[in-house]
Amino acid sequence: MTSSHTTTHDVFNQPKPLVDVNLYAGNRALRDALAFHLPGRDEATSLAQGERWGSLEWQTHARLANTHPPRLQTHDRFGHRIDRVEFHPSYHALMTEAVGAGLHGRPWSRGPGAHIERAAAFMLFTELEPSILCPISMTYAVTPALRANDKVTEDWFGKLASTAYDPRLVPFTDKPGVTMGMGMTEKQGGSDVRANTTRAVIVEPGSPWGARAEVTGHKWFFSAPMCDAFLILAQEEGGLSCFFLPRVLPDGTLNAVRIQRLKDKLGNHANASSEVEFHAANAWRVGEVGRGVAQILEMGTLTRLDCALGTAGLMRHALSLALHHTAQRMAFGKRLIDQPVMKNVLADMALESEAATALALRLARAIDRQDDPFEALMRRVLTPVAKFWICKRGSLLGQEAMECLGGNGYVEEAGEGVMARIYREMPLNSIWEGAGNIMALDLLRALRGGGKGGSVAEALAAELATARGANAAFDRVADALPARIDAMVDETEARRLALDVALAVQASLLRRHAPDFVFDAFCRSRLGGDWGQAFGTLPAGTAFDALIARAMPT
Ligand SMILES: Cc1cc2nc3c(=O)[nH]c(=O)nc-3n(C[C@H](O)[C@H](O)[C@H](O)COP(=O)(O)OP(=O)(O)OC[C@H]3O[C@@H](n4cnc5c(N)ncnc54)[C@H](O)[C@@H]3O)c2cc1C
Repeated sequence: MTSSHTTTHDVFNQPKPLVDVNLYAGNRALRDALAFHLPGRDEATSLAQGERWGSLEWQTHARLANTHPPRLQTHDRFGHRIDRVEFHPSYHALMTEAVGAGLHGRPWSRGPGAHIERAAAFMLFTELEPSILCPISMTYAVTPALRANDKVTEDWFGKLASTAYDPRLVPFTDKPGVTMGMGMTEKQGGSDVRANTTRAVIVEPGSPWGARAEVTGHKWFFSAPMCDAFLILAQEEGGLSCFFLPRVLPDGTLNAVRIQRLKDKLGNHANASSEVEFHAANAWRVGEVGRGVAQILEMGTLTRLDCALGTAGLMRHALSLALHHTAQRMAFGKRLIDQPVMKNVLADMALESEAATALALRLARAIDRQDDPFEALMRRVLTPVAKFWICKRGSLLGQEAMECLGGNGYVEEAGEGVMARIYREMPLNSIWEGAGNIMALDLLRALRGGGKGGSVAEALAAELATARGANAAFDRVADALPARIDAMVDETEARRLALDVALAVQASLLRRHAPDFVFDAFCRSRLGGDWGQAFGTLPAGTAFDALIARAMPT
């Protein structure tokens, strides 16, 4: 009982926070997509992860890791360089959890379906905390690219796939598990890495890990500098090559990587991103001389998958928060969720979130089945499409979901207001690993090129054929695509094409693994033009209640 002298009012009509909720159980879109790609799949692990990662305990770790950001220690108190980043214990708890769940290099040591399973878990984990997934994602992506140096792979692969997290800056031989990052971007150019000026001089061509170089130069963005090793690009005689650069050398000494400062970022606060200089740092060549861009892009295409998965996870999280809030908050005599205009906003976001989940998971399936020539072509086309379109939609959805919470959406209160964290994270996935224009241009290249087992454009047409005849608007867009691809003479329309390919593929997936009311509403609004410029402009007659019920988080 509070004293009447100190009480000015009762607090009421304020929603309860969304905690202790099973992130997987209520995610119908994800469950149906998984059932389509992996029929008969056992859901026990996902249900357990969903429950754990949606718990108050783990959400508290996420909040603490974000409100106590990493700190750089360049020197010890005696003046020696140490180049260390110190993290809050909750960061390490989250890393232990993500590595333990096998979200990093583990799928590469497992059988069919492992990349799809990992994609689902990655999306769920994103709802817990997205920024620590940066080193996790890079570790996942590095493995195929590292194979071009079989000696390094022999020593490192087992530890990249191990479920043990060990944050110590010690030689890899002393660690049960390791993480890796990548360094491409320099001050004068990130998208155009051919402008890299960092130089590598081969000093020992026949070392136990192959050609050893001394690398001098810098990287303007170097995320997760506490990773155990990095793939970097550097110019050598013969062109731009890819190198493996460990933080600690096999003899136990610290490699000459100087962390200049940590980036002061809009979001992604739990993760450290840095600027570094290399002072004749030791590195070992991976792949052929002068083929560095192609080599490191093997890694880049997989981190692009994670940008799509991560954004789809963030969208789902933002939508869940909006649904949960509006189901409790009253305004003008009704729950917000029952107000007709709000229903339209929520249903429209639910459609977008489900379509993002479907597309991201479809790309994961293509990566999972790389030995199938058709899937290899789908991977080529869907990587830029999914990265471009899902990430573009993420920021808009994040803003709209925040608005559903009214002023509370904009307030963080010591990190407890998660919506602001989601909103700040969204643009990052769009920028890094190839910003929007770069993805649209990459799609053009893909569609104009051939591949093993036919052309990318033919594969795309075959994929879309699975949904033919179910919706006139879909048929019109799918029919027109081949001619548009042929007629495209310059790059000006690259984004329009990427957008339309994304929408067509999303529709074809919804046709296959979502109820008809989802497919119909998606086609009518996104492909039939019966839609406005903002969320909440679905046409009258849309199955608003069914879309909302399907998306409810609990
Ligand atoms: C938080 C964070 C962490 C990062 N971590 C890493 C990391 O660990 N390792 C790493 O290597 N990099 C990292 N990056 C860098 C990131 O990958 C680059 O910022 C990104 O690739 C863009 O490069 P840039 O900044 O040089 O921009 P630019 O290349 O200058 O591009 C600017 C804009 O121009 C557009 N553009 C470029 N070329 C064309 C063209 N031909 N036609 C039309 N438009 C074009 C781009 O789409 C973009 O919108 C990180 C970035 C951030 C924000």
